[in-house]
Amino acid sequence: MIEERIKELVELLNKASYEYYTLDKPTITDAEYDKYLRELIELEEDNPEFVLPNSPTHRVGGEVIEEFRKIVHEKPMLSLSNVFNEDEIVRFDERIRKEVHNPHYVCELKIDGLSVSLLYEKGKLVRAATRGDGIVGEDITHNVKTIKDVPLTLPKEIDIEVRGEIYMSKDSFLSVNEERRKKGEELFANPRNAAAGSVRQLDSKIAAKRKLSTFIYHLPNASAFGLHSHYETLEFMKSLGFCVNPNIRLVKNIQELLDYVNEWTEKRDTLPYEIDGIVIKLDDLQDQEKMGYTIKYPKWATAYKFPATLVLTKLKDIKFTVGRTGQVTPNAILEPVILMGSTISKTTLHNEDYVKNKEIMIGDIVAIKKAGDVIPEVVEVIKERRTGKEIPFAMTHTCPICNHELVKKDAAYYCVNPECDAKKIEGLIHYASRDTLNIDGFGDNIVEDFYNMGYLRNFSDFYKLHLYKKELMRLEGFGEKSIQKLLDAIEESKKNSLDKLLFALGIRYVGKKTAKLLARTYGSIEQLKKASYEELVAIKDIGEVIAKSVSEYFQDATNLEEIERLKEAGVCMTYEEEVVEKIDFSGKTFVLTGSLSTITREDAKELIEHMGGTTTGSVSKKTDVVIVGEKPGSKYEKARALGIMIWTEQEFLEKVQK
Ligand code: NAD
Repeated sequence: MIEERIKELVELLNKASYEYYTLDKPTITDAEYDKYLRELIELEEDNPEFVLPNSPTHRVGGEVIEEFRKIVHEKPMLSLSNVFNEDEIVRFDERIRKEVHNPHYVCELKIDGLSVSLLYEKGKLVRAATRGDGIVGEDITHNVKTIKDVPLTLPKEIDIEVRGEIYMSKDSFLSVNEERRKKGEELFANPRNAAAGSVRQLDSKIAAKRKLSTFIYHLPNASAFGLHSHYETLEFMKSLGFCVNPNIRLVKNIQELLDYVNEWTEKRDTLPYEIDGIVIKLDDLQDQEKMGYTIKYPKWATAYKFPATLVLTKLKDIKFTVGRTGQVTPNAILEPVILMGSTISKTTLHNEDYVKNKEIMIGDIVAIKKAGDVIPEVVEVIKERRTGKEIPFAMTHTCPICNHELVKKDAAYYCVNPECDAKKIEGLIHYASRDTLNIDGFGDNIVEDFYNMGYLRNFSDFYKLHLYKKELMRLEGFGEKSIQKLLDAIEESKKNSLDKLLFALGIRYVGKKTAKLLARTYGSIEQLKKASYEELVAIKDIGEVIAKSVSEYFQDATNLEEIERLKEAGVCMTYEEEVVEKIDFSGKTFVLTGSLSTITREDAKELIEHMGGTTTGSVSKKTDVVIVGEKPGSKYEKARALGIMIWTEQEFLEKVQK
């Protein structure tokens, strides 16, 4: 079984490598490749007896095309080991520390191109070669000579070999593809691919037109030039006229290293070329030699690979869910894949038109994307991978929960049954969620379970749960402590200000902002109840639709009874302007996470710095405040776990304005 899987993985990976390196036409994503390679490494480590001689774990990828003259590298051109998360970076540092006292590192951007070796004799470029299989590469001198930033002569008449990356900028990539599209030619999958395809042309006129560029990052025998550190080497190569990436940084400890990684993870999209990670290299050249090499990579360097922003997976099914407004949404049920550190097994398909426009069928292989911290999205269907067994999508016309017929409004279908269980559950989840009454502990599952068991039907039922404490404690997965925690959170939620309550009630068209506006204008629910449609519509920023919805809501006897019950339970029905305490920013460390809606990240950072604070990219015990925007990611979770002060964007702005 294991032996077979190893064989299968070796074949699969070798085929993918051939398509990627030799044909420049990958058929699987890099993340898929990396996932299979990891599986193979683990299986080989546990079962060394089954390791195959042609395993990709023992070879540098790439083969040499016959058409090109072969070049034997004087020193092998190796690949880099990979790390995929902070823990693995820390472990890399620990391995180095075992051999090297107080290591310094050079952090570099991992340019997504292909490596090249440039050989100069007496200061003249005489040969350029691809990495090939690491030992033997291809002669691409004729093409490299067309790259504008590669010096053909050096200021000194020296013999030197330097190595670096040939890449295509995002702009050139777009224009090359645009030209190909016009000519009806097949498009390049990405800039790396386009660059690789361009340098491996027999006719150098083609490469010349493709506008390639280079970054040089390695000098194989630097000590021969009297250099002692990698950083110094980069400076030296710069002085010879090579293009050295300007974003290199010498770091002196793991925290500085992680800061660089975090900084560029966030900023990578601002670069005019693509990078797929960060390369971390031990700075001292003697220490590098001390660490040595494996057959595939140097032990003194590693590449942190960015989490994939695009992965392929199978769309196994489409299931419908009902939201609190009654909107019925189709959702893709996916074969679980890891994307940017989290497992994705489901994602929204929004509405019928969305599914139809993307021509999604059940059983399709789809590309899933996640940019920043946002919800994953189906980018496209990979039609080439259809087998013919895919099932067409059909929108449901009845509620998947209560079977009530749906009503179509614009692109969406709604369940209009007021008693629909799904709507009620979603309404209760919303009532307890972070932006509303923030009843800690009441996540989707607990609310749904309590609803199904009959404990929760209306909002006011939250405040009756204490009467069932003993019963609840006997439920599977609960104990006295956990139930008491929930009850305490319910008690605490009563203190929330009126704006939170108004948003929690789920009045149609009343979102967070409108709720605040109404609460601020009327001060109490008693006053708001009395407001007529005319009065409401006269408020700036309240339109006819909202005014109508609000006045109808407060005329409905069921709603009024429910509000009365909440009042009796002690829920705060008045608005209190938040008192913003004055805070001293100086000496404090801030971390920003999630997307900010009213201010750019750069401006937020500037403000913090202006007030004497500093910003870093990662959350640690040293962080004082984490500012969270929309859809915060793991940094928010980490801040909570460490008990670090958390501010919303609004809170931050209020404090800054004080
Ligand atoms: P790699 O991309 O993991 O890293 C090594 C390479 O990084 C070097 O050879 C160099 O060219 C490059 N690099 C960029 N910037 C650098 C810098 N500042 N310093 C040093 N090196 C720098 O290794 P690889 O062996 O070229 O490729 C393996 C990767 O290629 C896999 O992890 C996978 O993601 C991808 N791959 C994909 C497929 C596929 O079918 N999709 C197939 C094979 C390989």
